[in-house]
Amino acid sequence: MCGIVGFTGTGEAAPVLLDGLKKLEYRGYDSAGIAVMNDSGINVSKVTGRIAGLCEKTDNGAKTPGTSGIGHTRWATHGAPTEENAHPHLSNDGKFAIVHNGIIENFSSLREELKSRGYVFESETDTEVIVHLIEMYYKGNVREALVKTTNRLRGSYALGVICTDEPGKIFAVRESSPLILGVGVGDNYFASDVTALVAYTRNAVYMEDGEYAELTNDTVKVYDCTGQELEKEVSRITWDVQAAEKGGYEHFMLKEIMEQPAALKATIEPRVRDGKIVFDELKDLPDVLKNIRKIVITACGSAYYAGCAGKYALESLGRIPVETELASELRYNNPLIDEHTLLIVISQSGETADTIAAMKESKSRGAHVLAIVNVVGSTIAKLADHTIYTWAGPEIAVATTKGYTTQLSVLYMLSIWFAQTLGTKDVDTGYYVNLLKSLPRLIQQSIDMNPSVSGLARKYHSNRSLFFIGRNTDYAVALEGALKMKEISYLHAESYAAGELKHGTIALIEEHQPVIAVCCNERLIEKTLSNIIEVKARGAKVLALTISGNKKIVPVADDLLFIPPVDELFSAAVEIVPLQLLAYYVAKENGCDIDKPKNLAKSVTVE
Ligand code: GLU
Repeated sequence: MCGIVGFTGTGEAAPVLLDGLKKLEYRGYDSAGIAVMNDSGINVSKVTGRIAGLCEKTDNGAKTPGTSGIGHTRWATHGAPTEENAHPHLSNDGKFAIVHNGIIENFSSLREELKSRGYVFESETDTEVIVHLIEMYYKGNVREALVKTTNRLRGSYALGVICTDEPGKIFAVRESSPLILGVGVGDNYFASDVTALVAYTRNAVYMEDGEYAELTNDTVKVYDCTGQELEKEVSRITWDVQAAEKGGYEHFMLKEIMEQPAALKATIEPRVRDGKIVFDELKDLPDVLKNIRKIVITACGSAYYAGCAGKYALESLGRIPVETELASELRYNNPLIDEHTLLIVISQSGETADTIAAMKESKSRGAHVLAIVNVVGSTIAKLADHTIYTWAGPEIAVATTKGYTTQLSVLYMLSIWFAQTLGTKDVDTGYYVNLLKSLPRLIQQSIDMNPSVSGLARKYHSNRSLFFIGRNTDYAVALEGALKMKEISYLHAESYAAGELKHGTIALIEEHQPVIAVCCNERLIEKTLSNIIEVKARGAKVLALTISGNKKIVPVADDLLFIPPVDELFSAAVEIVPLQLLAYYVAKENGCDIDKPKNLAKSVTVE
């Protein structure tokens, strides 16, 4: 969600800041700004709307000369998305400019205090209290002022700061919000994620909560809150620039749908050895498992739906009870989580605030935490006892596709791993390992066998509302299919367990109501077929997603999407693909901003 960048070097700062902000656009934002420092002071430019507007306003940075600066994309939490509220914010004396991602929870009492001391506020943001606190505490040492300031803050922040007394220096600090330093040659950077850095450097330093960074063009120093300098490890960024570009596709989302076979291969292959699942990441988990009585999967959005689909495989192969709980709800239930619980948290970005909060709550109750995340060095990866990375590469489109399917592939691998480790009776793990290895090929087939999907999108795009139905594993897919449709095409889409329609909602099925029926689970096809017949009897138009060659569904449905035959336990990763494509083409027909759907952010770093 939103982003910050900082640059100090020998060349011009503004073009690098603008480029970095463009790379962060996918995270979601509503306004943007940069502050660049030169001999005559700090020059701030801000816009509402897109970075393209900021480029225009600054003549691609030419109007804001200087070799150090900070930039921001804002996803408004306090105050409307206006130019006044956009960051950077300046101190009253004009010495400091700051950018901030996150929320200051105690901003209102700080604001009153600062006002009573005579500080004048130019915006409605929570952020502005920070810059005035820095000015108040500044006695010639920026880091000391920052430590005093952050001691007063409650909430989450990644902060970037410049000060006219320190030409060529940029400062940064984080607490519960992502921040990475980029170490270059003759220039140094900070950013919310590596996509903003890869074009300039592959050397990254991952900042921890409560750490302060001071960068010049040739030094990178990190301190703790006592002023002790820290030895930080420099990690290599393996994602390349092309991976964060569209590569000939019209949208990142389409590119990422097409990348799924490769992404699953990259996630699965290193973990299959000699016909077995090997997780080097889970070395001491078998010992912990002796004490575990249940698994709780917690996550938000699509990651939660991946958990819902993965539950079937985990319970079936591992024979351990699995509960799924929305991370944004978990804390309020006085959850039955203790040292006998294995908590599996799932988050593409590894920065989802609700998931982090659920994880912290569960840890405090003694749970052992296993995280499934895509972004190396992210907060969740650091907080978990064990982390399994999905090697999906950068996911730029806000609506997840390869993030979701790679999460599923990890859950499938885990289910086999549990069967191996716990010695579940009557489970032929070799069969499931082979099935797992075939997933990239099956996903490719499910892309290839649906050339009609764009035509179907033309037929269905103008409907105001869609129903998605399915049973069991197909229901889990219906949940994610409907979410994809809502997220990017803004059509109302309701997912229903197929057997539930008649318990309340079937009155909504009227003449021409589209119903997307997911019926790939061979055990249940006849049951879902009955539900298809029920809705057709009330005039519904049925688009069925089923197994190629299925003789029962083909004659009944109005329209069809297909997947190749695949065992139900691992089928969700294959079934979802035609529904991702359908959502994509419907959104395209409706002229939606597919990669940056309105009001959504990629990494939701607020609760
Ligand atoms: N809470 C701050 C604001 O509303 C920062 C939001 C952000 O992270 O972009 O201005």
